[in-house]
Amino acid sequence: MKESTRKILKKYGWRIDLFIHEYIYFVFYVPYVRTAIYLIRFVYRFLSWCKPLVKITADFIFNMYHGKVITPKDMKKIITLDHDFSVTGDENKMIFPFSNSTKIIFENPGLIVVMDCPCKIVSKSPCRPINACMAIGDPIASFWLEHCQKYNPKIMTSNEALEHVRKLRETGHIQQVFSKRSGRGNTYAICNCCKVCCTSLKGTKAAKKADRNLSQTVSSGYSVMLDKSKCDLCGNCVKICQFEANEIREGMLVYDREECVGCELCVEHCPNGALNIYLDCERKILPLDIDMVGKMSG
Ligand code: SF4
Ligand code: SF4
Repeated sequence: MKESTRKILKKYGWRIDLFIHEYIYFVFYVPYVRTAIYLIRFVYRFLSWCKPLVKITADFIFNMYHGKVITPKDMKKIITLDHDFSVTGDENKMIFPFSNSTKIIFENPGLIVVMDCPCKIVSKSPCRPINACMAIGDPIASFWLEHCQKYNPKIMTSNEALEHVRKLRETGHIQQVFSKRSGRGNTYAICNCCKVCCTSLKGTKAAKKADRNLSQTVSSGYSVMLDKSKCDLCGNCVKICQFEANEIREGMLVYDREECVGCELCVEHCPNGALNIYLDCERKILPLDIDMVGKMSG
C-alpha cells in the first residue's frame, strides 16, 4: 500500500465508506465531476418546476460539499505557512457555516501540488491554464502525486504557487478552499475557479434560480466600497466579477452586496483605485485568515 493511502486510511479511521468515497473521488476525478455535472443538469432541467424540491436537493448537496472564498492576502498566508496548522473547534462555524465542516487543517503545508482541474477538463472551451487545482499539504498533496499521474500533478515552491495564483487572478479566477463531508469535514483543496468551468459556481447559479439565498460558495467575509469620485464607469469591475454583483445602470455603478462573495477581483482590476475591500461585520461570516483563526482558538 502506498504511503499516502495509508495516511488517508488513518485519517478516516473506522469510516471506511468515507475513505472509499475519497479514494474514488480523486482517482476518478474527471468521471466523478462529469457525473456531478449531469446530476446538476438533470435536477434543474427536470425538477426546476418544483422549487421546494430544488431547494432541498441543493441544501443537501451544498451542506455536504462547499467552498470558502479567500482573498489574495489570506491565500498568501496559507501558501507560505511554514508549520502544521489545525483548528477543529466550534469557531470554524463562523468561517464555514455548514454542519459538516469542522476542521481547518494544513498538515505539512510546505508540500504544494498543482493538478489539472476536472471542471476545466470536462468544459467544452475551458479557460487556461488547466493546471489549476491546488493541494496544500498532506495527505491530499502526496495522494495526488502517488495516485493521480494522469492529471499531471506538479510540486511547486510557495513562490511559484503565488505567481501561479496571481496569473490566474488576472484572467478572472477566484480562490476557494473546499471542504466536504466525505473528507471528514477537513479543508482539503484550494481551487482556482471561474464561472465558465467551475462545477460548484455553476451549481450555485442554477440553485439561485429557485432561491436567491442558496449557495455552495461562502463569502470571504469582506465586501466592497466604492469611491465614486474616482470611478469613470470603465466597466472593468462589471466584466471581471464572476457573480454579476456589479452593474452599470443609468450612468452609475450599482453594487449588489448580497451577490458579492468578497473575492477582491474587482478591486484588483479597477484601473483607478476606486474600489476597496473591507471586513463586513454585518455578514456574520469571518474570513479564513489563519492568523485570526489561530488567535481565536487560543
Ligand atoms: S463584486 Fe468584486 S469582490 Fe464582489 S464578487 Fe464581484 S469581483 Fe468579487
Ligand atoms: S473598474 Fe473602477 S473605474 Fe471602472 S467602473 Fe469599476 S469602479 Fe469604476
